[in-house]
Amino acid sequence: MAEPHPPGALAAIIGLEVHVQLATARKLFSPARRHHQPEAPNRHIDPFSIGLPGALPVLNPAVIEPAVRAALALGCTVDLRSEWDRKHYFYPDLPKGFQITQHRRPLATEGRLDILGDDDRQRGIRIRRIHLEEDAGKSVHGPDALTRVDFNRAGAALIEIVSEPDLRSPAEARRFLKRLRAVLRTVGASTAHMERGELRCDANVSLRLHGPRTELKNLNSFRHVEQALAYELGRQRAAFAAGTPLVDETRLWDAARRQTRATRTKGGAADYRYLPEPDLPALALDPQWLQATRDALPELPAARAARAEQRGLIAGQADVLADDDELFDLFDAASSGAPELASAVAGLLLGDVSRLR
Ligand code: ADP
Ligand code: MG
Repeated sequence: MAEPHPPGALAAIIGLEVHVQLATARKLFSPARRHHQPEAPNRHIDPFSIGLPGALPVLNPAVIEPAVRAALALGCTVDLRSEWDRKHYFYPDLPKGFQITQHRRPLATEGRLDILGDDDRQRGIRIRRIHLEEDAGKSVHGPDALTRVDFNRAGAALIEIVSEPDLRSPAEARRFLKRLRAVLRTVGASTAHMERGELRCDANVSLRLHGPRTELKNLNSFRHVEQALAYELGRQRAAFAAGTPLVDETRLWDAARRQTRATRTKGGAADYRYLPEPDLPALALDPQWLQATRDALPELPAARAARAEQRGLIAGQADVLADDDELFDLFDAASSGAPELASAVAGLLLGDVSRLR
């Protein structure tokens, strides 16, 4: 197919799928405690989370509020009735052979998260959907060439946040994730530590909206997200320039080699054999409770950033401060009565204080 642009001018098109572990004491459908690291393997299990025959799911009501607060803070429409589905795949860390998720009717749809774009203007990144689902266990590849399975994480409550492909560079993807983390922490939905696996990102990237795309799986730090996307864009642009056809595929970021490698061609929804979950009723929310939850949301990072800009900070500084609860509170306390000090305070907090922490 002929392309009017030289390959270097092809914009990046990026959409993220982010898994977030909700800050609840217990798992999504069973009473075992949610896993905290570091922890001995298989300490937090129960018949349901290791898939024993006959064990049935019972929704943990404590997951609803953090999930809904996250959805409302991301400007989503929360459905008063959402439904559960089984997503089947075979993997040792998934003992039931399926994951319970919300496929047909998710908890929430059509939200938006504003980030600072590469052009230093605020850009709204559309959120397609947010659904609840259970986490899988973890395969641990030992130095003795054996693989063991740890089910501490199996069945923990996740929300998956799916963005539209509105991000235009690896740096925008990083800023989206940082702002998302700040929102999740601000509303108490998750502690969202990437290094503990509480926030995990799959990044989809292509050069054209309807062209072939790569899904980069399980990126577990902001740096890896940015580096993997930059590498992948370079690879796609080079292939495009050389006339090598690109295909839809899943690739992994190899942090040691600083490159991505292919793992499998991407499966479609049909491969998962989604089925309605027969053992759980629909999740119904009370409209008055939903309104009260909306009214109780705290000041969000975007509003904080706007306040910092009103005190004279440049957008880039305001943005970074607003994503950090601790620093922002210090900034706010020090400059609220004295806006003329705002820039100096911000410089100190983002410079020396950040270096010392
Ligand atoms: P699938 O159903 O194949 O997983 P979706 O259309 O549901 O694909 O999108 C999954 C993710 O991929 C979303 O985060 C979306 O923003 C992103 N995405 C869709 N199209 C593109 C594209 N052309 N380039 C990059 N990301 C994309
Ligand atoms: Mg999912």
